[in-house]
Amino acid sequence: MYKDLQGKVAIVTGAATGLGKAIAERLAAEGVKVVVNYHSKNQGVEEMIKDIEEKGGSAAAFQADVTKQEDIKYLVEFASDTFGRLDIMVNNAGIENEVPSADLTLEDWNKVINVNLTGMFLGSREAIKYMLKHDIQGTVINMASVHDRIPWPHFVHYAASKGGVKMLTETLALEYAPKRIRINNISPGAIDTPINAEKFNDPKAKQEVIKLIPMGYIGKPEEIAACAAWLASSESSYVTGITLYADGGMTKYPGFQAGKG
Ligand code: NAD
Repeated sequence: MYKDLQGKVAIVTGAATGLGKAIAERLAAEGVKVVVNYHSKNQGVEEMIKDIEEKGGSAAAFQADVTKQEDIKYLVEFASDTFGRLDIMVNNAGIENEVPSADLTLEDWNKVINVNLTGMFLGSREAIKYMLKHDIQGTVINMASVHDRIPWPHFVHYAASKGGVKMLTETLALEYAPKRIRINNISPGAIDTPINAEKFNDPKAKQEVIKLIPMGYIGKPEEIAACAAWLASSESSYVTGITLYADGGMTKYPGFQAGKG
């Protein structure tokens, strides 16, 4: 538990499912008042809010499309109107689809870049603007991926978007360090969430992924939420501009694990 998180206010984007849900629930358990952003109706957000409240936490839902700047402005306004301030912005929403690069349409390219990169820019910008205006030494956490450094054939738009997020975060961190606004990335490896459902429901495909993970298992959303809680807390007070790889060692060249090569 991080005592300094008590009473802070956070927004988590794409928080109806997967990592966003786990982060929202973990922050709420830490005493943070959480705005749960969701994209589409019927993603079970009401049950989630109820569950958080039953456990003594505070949360409120807000529908917004992270690719729309007006939506993000309203999202930040909603956090401020509902809970009085904004201390923590978690830009988590993301999408992917598999297409050989030679067949990738401009439409699909733009769709992924818009959600994964432009969405994180808009979320970061609006949060930073709010923190500057209200003299808040807050934190922004952007969800990148191991594919900000591991090339990923058939997912060129995804890999390009996450590489972009890494540099977005590093640049913003440098720019706003004097204001003590900390901006960091989390780069997960393979985690058990709906984005991977199809792959992980196929035992053979799942095994192929596990072979790429030196620690030998698919990560749990709670293990990423723990990273977010630490980055949001003052226990990481001197940390800005980092990319925190939570990947069971996936970025450490698993092909060399046996010592050959
Ligand atoms: P997920 O599909 O469960 O979550 C993504 C969420 O983003 C969904 O709730 C979806 O509704 C929301 N979303 C999509 N488009 C949106 C939009 N325009 N506006 C608002 N919300 C939108 O998958 P996840 O694994 O929880 O993914 C969360 C983040 O973690 C993504 O950025 C993803 O790229 C990243 N990530 C996941 C893994 C993994 O293995 N699960 C690994 C590395 C990075």
